[in-house]
Amino acid sequence: MSFADQIKEKLDQARKRAWAPFQPVPQEVLEQRLSHCHRCENYTSAIDQCQLCFCIMSQKAKLTGSRCPAGYWNKHEISDQKPGI
Ligand code: SF4
Repeated sequence: MSFADQIKEKLDQARKRAWAPFQPVPQEVLEQRLSHCHRCENYTSAIDQCQLCFCIMSQKAKLTGSRCPAGYWNKHEISDQKPGI
């Protein structure tokens, strides 16, 4: 592999890692997350908002890199990520 190809591959890996937290989670993960929120003492259903992070949960729960500030659920790992540069 040429030096230019190695640089291109490293840049592709970096781009994938940078965007990974903003990828959508699978539907079952979204449903699990929202089921925690909907039963949570910090959730205000009238405005769909967490009172700890102030996020709109129907949007925040969709993102791979999101996590619950109270630790009820964590970020979703993407299995095809390669180790760091
Ligand atoms: S993100 Fe966590 S603390 Fe906030 S409403 Fe959902 S489960 Fe509760």
